[in-house]
Amino acid sequence: PQAANPYSGAKVYVNPEWSAKAAAEPGGSKIANQPTAVWLDRIAAINGVNGGMGLRAHLDEALKQKGSGDLVVQLVIYDLPGRDCAALASNGELGPGDLDKYKSQYIDPIASLLSESKYAGLRIATVIEPDSLPNLVTNAGGTPTTTDACVTMKSNGNYEKGVSYALDKLGAIPNVYNYIDAGHHGWLGWDSNLGPSVQEFAKVATTNGASVNDVAGFIVNTANYSPAKEPNFKVTDSVNGQTVRQSKWVDWNQYVDEQSFAVGLRDKLVAAGFNSGIGMLIDTSRNGWGGSARPTGPGPLTSVDAYVDGSRVDRRIHAGNWCNQSGAGIGERPTAAPAAGIDAYVWVKPPGESDGASAAVPNDEGKGFDRMCDPTYGGNARNGNNPTGSLPNAPLAGHWFSAQFQQLMQNAYPPL
Ligand code: BGC
Repeated sequence: PQAANPYSGAKVYVNPEWSAKAAAEPGGSKIANQPTAVWLDRIAAINGVNGGMGLRAHLDEALKQKGSGDLVVQLVIYDLPGRDCAALASNGELGPGDLDKYKSQYIDPIASLLSESKYAGLRIATVIEPDSLPNLVTNAGGTPTTTDACVTMKSNGNYEKGVSYALDKLGAIPNVYNYIDAGHHGWLGWDSNLGPSVQEFAKVATTNGASVNDVAGFIVNTANYSPAKEPNFKVTDSVNGQTVRQSKWVDWNQYVDEQSFAVGLRDKLVAAGFNSGIGMLIDTSRNGWGGSARPTGPGPLTSVDAYVDGSRVDRRIHAGNWCNQSGAGIGERPTAAPAAGIDAYVWVKPPGESDGASAAVPNDEGKGFDRMCDPTYGGNARNGNNPTGSLPNAPLAGHWFSAQFQQLMQNAYPPL
């Protein structure tokens, strides 16, 4: 990579297709000019789906938006074989064994376009395969959270080989900045998950042709709802001599928010051999948790649970809930270098695009029905068997969800 932090001094690409959908919503013009990532969520997205913009159209438009300054284009690389092994909502088009197809029909054409000399002046930030390596760490090892599909992807090695291949091919392009997805604090924030995650990232970044020099950094909270900061309590707080880590909500996690998680993870990654210049991204598109339910100060000092529950701005039923969360709001606006070690707050998940359908919907995208998107479901081992907290009447993952967009605007924090 050429710049230490590609976001420094640069504009970020506004996806005209998302922007138009946002602008068409009542009040949507308040955020329609914000930059969001372009998701390459299937092979056909490279050329454009249903007459929509393909990758070349986005890059050409990015050159226009760039003008004479610097501009970052954000692309999500998201089409691994056996995608989304611990859930069903974003299952993809490639079967567990389709590694060769992933390489030759997905990564290679993307790499070839990004390598064209006319695009050499763009800074291209790639988000590499959300959820994939975290799923290998927590959902393939025989614990109660394990799924058969993740066991398959761990044993056939195709997530690891696919991510290594993407890092290698895309990382060879001088103006591409690869950011590997690292889940979020409510997933990997326990020591028992974080150490193995760092080892997994290091393994994938040093095998099958990849090297740590192919990695500009890591992204946390992609498409998730964990707040960047919990302003009213810290993981080091205690109540009546008891650490808040033993509260039901924190549940012995080492972190209570994404910014502390990102910084802590960064230190461990550097210690494990990643370059000391790596930077972190935080997806803040939907982690604002404003509105009338937002606590304005710490909770009562009567018990750890009362204190944490009264303090926390994250109003989810459980931090393992991930689908179309009721009560969520737009988070921090995209910002370059908001803190040491953080390259940017970014909007990777485009606000208004669903996480998954709340009931089964036939489709040709490979997407399944995950009951974590069903508000009537009682949950599974990965959310401590709690209700899902998801909004009703949700369309397929990636499809426009007007009611969610409206609630995200309503509960934005900082307010719009
Ligand atoms: C979906 C993708 C979509 C992305 C962005 C994912 O959950 O599976 O199809 O492009 O979200 O909305």
